[in-house]
Amino acid sequence: MAEIIDGKAVAARVKENVKKRAEEFEGKYSRKVGLAVIKAGNNPASEIYVRNKIKACEACNIKSFSYDFDDAVTEAELIKLIRKLNKDKNVDGILVQLPLPKGIDERAVLSEISPTKDADGFHAVNAGKLFLGEKTRFVACTPRGIMELINSTGVKIAGLRAVVVGRSNIVGKPIATLLLNADATVTVCHSKTVNLADITREADILVAAVGKKKFITADMVKRGAVVIDVGMNRDEEGLFGDVDFENVKEVAGYITPVPGGVGPMTIAMLLMNTVDGAFDE
Ligand code: NDP
Repeated sequence: MAEIIDGKAVAARVKENVKKRAEEFEGKYSRKVGLAVIKAGNNPASEIYVRNKIKACEACNIKSFSYDFDDAVTEAELIKLIRKLNKDKNVDGILVQLPLPKGIDERAVLSEISPTKDADGFHAVNAGKLFLGEKTRFVACTPRGIMELINSTGVKIAGLRAVVVGRSNIVGKPIATLLLNADATVTVCHSKTVNLADITREADILVAAVGKKKFITADMVKRGAVVIDVGMNRDEEGLFGDVDFENVKEVAGYITPVPGGVGPMTIAMLLMNTVDGAFDE
């Protein structure tokens, strides 16, 4: 039976550290670390995420600057705001909550964020630095949080076989890169992968970022593996991960629950990125 990785507890430790450093920053520079949070449109999930991010800022002595646009916002308006925030000395991090309303080119908007204020770590400069194995303050939050969770188990990553299911720019690719940079032997799977279960069964570390409820079943998991469930699939029965938790926990060595696993880490690492970025200026 697997040990459950308590994402809430790990996130609380990260946030405690963020708060301490944010207070240290204020003592040194006589202003608070600042995070600008931009939301556009009426996506109910985004409303919750943004509210939670702002609440977490308050708890960690970070000042949040909130910008709320409706569906009719234009790309030009968003870009104009971002350019203003890039120059604002009180803003250390800028976050654009995705998805943006239809018709807006998300990459075009995100690429306007200064790489030095890229709280989410999605800018090509920071993604590129990660890929090159160069030091960057801004690493995509969910993957950065996943690394904290794996490290919290005490399992040494170097030399292990890691399999990532999913190749999105915000989860799959950056977590695969982080694991590779930590000396794992990494395989990335996706919808065109043939014989997926044969590959996942070889994983000492299995990361599921697919977006399909209970997609990873017990027969796809190696005994004793570290299983990280990134999935957040909501339906009328509730919130579910990409992993069939009840059955996989009988096989895995460590497993993250949904909720209470990767989710809380994403916000904690956003705050960590913001504080790291503030000190870097
Ligand atoms: P995307 O939809 O961008 O990517 C899903 C990936 O899964 C794609 O690479 C896709 O392959 C792959 N995939 C789909 N079907 C299969 C299949 N049958 N076999 C193998 N691979 C498959 O999702 P995200 O990466 O943005 O998110 C993944 C999940 O994580 C979602 O549930 C999301 O809600 C959640 N999430 C949770 C976060 C958190 O904080 N906990 C943060 C971000 C996301 P292909 O590329 O070929 O299409």
